[in-house]
Amino acid sequence: MEFGRETNVIKLDEEFFKEFETELQEAGMSINDLRSCIQCGKCAGTCPMALAGLEFFIKKIVHAATLGLKEIFLDDSSVWGCQSCNRCVEICPMEIKPYELIQAIRRVSFREYAMPSNTIDGLQNYYKLGHAVVVKGYENRRKKVGLPELPPTTLGNEEMRKKFQEMLKNTVLAEVAPFPLD
Ligand code: SF4
Ligand code: SF4
Repeated sequence: MEFGRETNVIKLDEEFFKEFETELQEAGMSINDLRSCIQCGKCAGTCPMALAGLEFFIKKIVHAATLGLKEIFLDDSSVWGCQSCNRCVEICPMEIKPYELIQAIRRVSFREYAMPSNTIDGLQNYYKLGHAVVVKGYENRRKKVGLPELPPTTLGNEEMRKKFQEMLKNTVLAEVAPFPLD
């Protein structure tokens, strides 16, 4: 055995792990549930995002989550590509509910600001305009046919906008939003 050699060990972040466990519990799941994953890969095999070419290693994420390997699952931005279709939940033979796991990861990642910039843009758009996704490149065509540059939402109504934004200010967004909630 060699002594004094540097090793590259990923350490368990206990505080983060507890926070993650709480998020799972709120979704009616536990780390123990995740341990019954048999790594069959059916979840990724049926995921429309994976089928469309997104590198989506759900079983790797499940495995990293059971071991509390924060760096691994915070570094994997593919969880932000999930489209909430729940196909992975329906097909999982072990009733793991990968979708719920992905949502729990998103919630803890959000608190660590570990999210892609387009997710932040989407959130900011949602807060300001009521649209998470603003389709770009159609503004002139819309104007030509007499439409506003952006499709209107209820936030065009000043009273509704204030109510909506006040509601969001009473959520966790007020603590963690990476932009001013003015
Ligand atoms: S389908 Fe279920 S058991 Fe199979 S790898 Fe995915 S989470 Fe694990
Ligand atoms: S819920 Fe998300 S992860 Fe599951 S199959 Fe649908 S897109 Fe993929």
